[in-house]
Amino acid sequence: MFELSEELTMVRDAARDFAERELKPRATKHDRQEHLDAEVLAKIAELGFWGLTVPEQYGGAGMGNLALSTVLEELNRGCAATGVTVSVHNSLLCAPILKWGSEEQKQRFLPKLASGEWIGAYCLTEPNSGSDAAALVTKAERDGDHYVLNGTKIWVTSGSMAGLALVYVRTNPDPKLPKAKGISAFLVETSTPGCRVGKKELKCGIRGSPATELVFENCRVPAANMLGALDKGFPIAMDTLDGGRIGIAAQSVGIAQACLEEAIAYAKVRVQFGKPIGHFQAIQHKIADMQVRIDAARMLVQKAAWLRDRGEPCGRQAAEAKLFASQAANFCADECLQIHGGAGYTDHFIAERLFRDARITEIYEGATDIQRLVIARAVMA
Ligand SMILES: Cc1cc2nc3c(=O)[nH]c(=O)nc-3n(C[C@H](O)[C@H](O)[C@H](O)COP(=O)(O)OP(=O)(O)OC[C@H]3O[C@@H](n4cnc5c(N)ncnc54)[C@H](O)[C@@H]3O)c2cc1C
Repeated sequence: MFELSEELTMVRDAARDFAERELKPRATKHDRQEHLDAEVLAKIAELGFWGLTVPEQYGGAGMGNLALSTVLEELNRGCAATGVTVSVHNSLLCAPILKWGSEEQKQRFLPKLASGEWIGAYCLTEPNSGSDAAALVTKAERDGDHYVLNGTKIWVTSGSMAGLALVYVRTNPDPKLPKAKGISAFLVETSTPGCRVGKKELKCGIRGSPATELVFENCRVPAANMLGALDKGFPIAMDTLDGGRIGIAAQSVGIAQACLEEAIAYAKVRVQFGKPIGHFQAIQHKIADMQVRIDAARMLVQKAAWLRDRGEPCGRQAAEAKLFASQAANFCADECLQIHGGAGYTDHFIAERLFRDARITEIYEGATDIQRLVIARAVMA
């Protein structure tokens, strides 16, 4: 039987309490205003969640992926837009700096990320490179002690509020090279001249999390901001996504759990044919199927996070967790809305927002088909 340690239980309870008191009541507001409340960002800083996975020497809490996924499940249970912001910040920005950054980079960047002074973003996707991420064309050319960046990144989560972005660019345009070679990663302060926020998308769900373009026009970035080695950025992007996928899988579990709770609450009070609808076996079966998927998804998340904390390869397990948990979230969101009947299709209940929020989990950080591809490649190798 898997049991959270005392320390993880305390962190989970703090996240649960925060989600219950601060996030749940605000989630619909976040959705409608299309950004997160500043008080929420400040409270996350107070709780230490921006620096959850950053070592104490750089101002963080020094915890791992298991702690992060535990916290993310709770935050996403309250508000998925808040949850993804914390997930991207920790798993797609703090984690690669910690793993590949020089000591100088860690000292320069991590304290501001851990305190929440900077929110982090991850810029891989471009208009013509989504699932085929290695096809990216944003380029960086050396000019003295700097690289000059030109190109447009799209779908940047937290794009309009990020202080620091990890940007993947082509540094070797030789067409004879395989396209995954010749890509480098740069840490770009978004206040750098030549870096600007472009179009913001109006999304189906997680509307409180702004997804924008980040445009680079002759943006001069110090060569000292390169993360890892020249032309060796693509493996960083892929390994980082293993961690990110555990975060999105945890998000999925949180959304699924919220769906289950909403469905049960409604099934207990909605009376038809003289009884609460929860008395009908058809409704009970839906609840049972939701519960089982949530339990199984949570275990996959914990297994992948545990492996990553041990420094073991976890690409397949992260993909399994993301694939299964995101499908579970969408299953639960669909059943939750169905159990609400017509009311679920209106804004009188949060079932409709949960339904919209769940949808993204099967798309970002590798769509469902791509997770299957990763898993099949690993097991058929
Ligand atoms: C709200 C939101 C936030 C995002 N945040 C970020 C972010 O912060 N940073 C970032 O870099 N990116 C981000 N993304 C981008 C996201 O990761 C991509 O949308 C995702 O990887 C899919 O790429 P695509 O949208 O170009 O779809 P496509 O690659 O065009 O895929 C379209 C469909 O084809 C399928 N498909 C593609 N290739 C294959 C294949 N080989 N085999 C089988 N099926 C295939 C896909 O599964 C999908 O169903 C975000 C996206 C969204 C919507």
